[in-house]
Amino acid sequence: MKGFNIIGKKISAKSDQIIKAVDPSNLSDLEGEFHVATNEEAEEAVKKAKAAAEKYSKVKGSKRAHFLRTIADKIEGLGDQLVKRVMQESGLPEGRVKGERGRTCAQLRFFADKVEEGSWVNAIINRGDVDVRQCLEPIGPVVVFTASNFPLAFSTAGGDTASALAAGCPVIIKAHESHLGTNNLVAEVIMGAAVECGLPDGVFSSLNGAGNELGSFLVQHPDVKAVAFTGSYGGGKALYDLAQKRDEPIPVFSEMGSVNPVFILPDAMEAKTEEWAEAVANSVNLGAGQFCTNPGLLIVKRNEYLLAFSDQLVDAFTRLTPATMLNKGIFQSYERGRHQQSQQKGVVIKYAEMDDDPDSRKALPCLLEVGFQNFIDNPKLAEEVFGPLSVMIVCENDEELASVADHLQGQLTASFIGEKNELLAYSDLINKVKTKAGRIIVNGLPTGVAVVEAMHHGGPFPATTDVRFTSVGGNAIYRFVRPVCYQDFPDELLPDALKEENPLGINRKEF
Ligand code: NAP
Repeated sequence: MKGFNIIGKKISAKSDQIIKAVDPSNLSDLEGEFHVATNEEAEEAVKKAKAAAEKYSKVKGSKRAHFLRTIADKIEGLGDQLVKRVMQESGLPEGRVKGERGRTCAQLRFFADKVEEGSWVNAIINRGDVDVRQCLEPIGPVVVFTASNFPLAFSTAGGDTASALAAGCPVIIKAHESHLGTNNLVAEVIMGAAVECGLPDGVFSSLNGAGNELGSFLVQHPDVKAVAFTGSYGGGKALYDLAQKRDEPIPVFSEMGSVNPVFILPDAMEAKTEEWAEAVANSVNLGAGQFCTNPGLLIVKRNEYLLAFSDQLVDAFTRLTPATMLNKGIFQSYERGRHQQSQQKGVVIKYAEMDDDPDSRKALPCLLEVGFQNFIDNPKLAEEVFGPLSVMIVCENDEELASVADHLQGQLTASFIGEKNELLAYSDLINKVKTKAGRIIVNGLPTGVAVVEAMHHGGPFPATTDVRFTSVGGNAIYRFVRPVCYQDFPDELLPDALKEENPLGINRKEF
């Protein structure tokens, strides 16, 4: 575990400022001393990325695809060394880590296929008195802030990196302090793949930072052209604000918090009481609740089955197994949030172990209940508590259900659990909620985000800073491109995607 920064094709350790990776289960230091990047090193990474940007934008889709597949192969080649390190740094169990590695490599190959096929550039050709042609081209160097809660899949070689590299943009990683060793292993692999594939120096860099200095420096650097972030509302919004204050504002795609409301409709509550209670509880506790899609609000209407459902839910919560949280800060923040939410006016604690062992560092699942009016009167109850906590809001009638929907902030997801006929009867409510969320789920729970073309993992603010884009699925690539229009250009000067004979053989809109 060398702990260097990676700047294009070289490793670098100019600073004596060292940070250590920590085992979240016992707070002991792990192997490796990680050198914090100096401003000089960050400057060098950006300069190299800028120099690489033009060359890399011209690299053919097939070669970019080869690069992405090589990264995936090399990540798999790290074998148990990587799995072990992720487990040590994150507290996540082996099955989850292996699953996440599989997803990471699948994402890389998914974008490889997409960029190799090539039609994603949305080529449009208008022939006429004026010949106007358009396609999408890379935006330039992208800074990726890796996420604490997905040390692989939303991290160094995660979806942001894969989609930016696929789009033709160099990437500079701001490593997360929570998994410095994991970052180190994966970043070395990407550097090796870039060299092996003969790509320009600077197509990839990875920098370690402690505190906000490095991230702020990168976001404000005039040669950085876009930012991808997954994490807290505070962090994502602060970086967005910084980018908008630049002389040249740039897009910041921050994916922040969400409470992912789940509406549980009466007939479904009656028909499958136990089944849904079990499924909801398991979803709340999945990954110690450390998912941006964690169901933090359960919305129900009082009826004769509510008591049975609520009892089953509490019963299912008692059977959940608490798990270690990702880092000390996240554990403390969950503990704080859990206690604060429990003490809000009108909140009934349905399930919680409040006298836990502070040294366990495990997230104890928590189920709270509150009536409609107390929920509406208290915005705090609609805030995300990152961890296995859910608040059940009890409405007395359909008007109150609609009011809760109106009251919701922007979300990544919203779910409806209902029998077929009642889903049809509640279509107005579903349409209302549609204005608040990026993905609407019927008879399922929001945890689990499939990496497929049609996936949308985004949503209205404050779920993200740009409602139009996604960080998962095929469209994630569109965050890192811009349209360029060519008017009356000679064929030889056009990009291949727009040439008259269509040498790439891609789908185009031609008029
Ligand atoms: P975070 O505090 O937002 O940090 C994420 C990354 O952004 C880190 O690399 C951090 O760097 C950097 N950063 C944050 N604020 C910054 C600023 N003002 N200027 C420059 N850089 C900044 O997220 P986290 O550490 O992963 O977890 C903290 C909390 O975020 C959790 O308790 C949870 O509430 C929330 N979270 C939410 C999601 C979600 O998907 N909704 C995912 C993960 C976390 P430094 O650490 O070096 O400052």
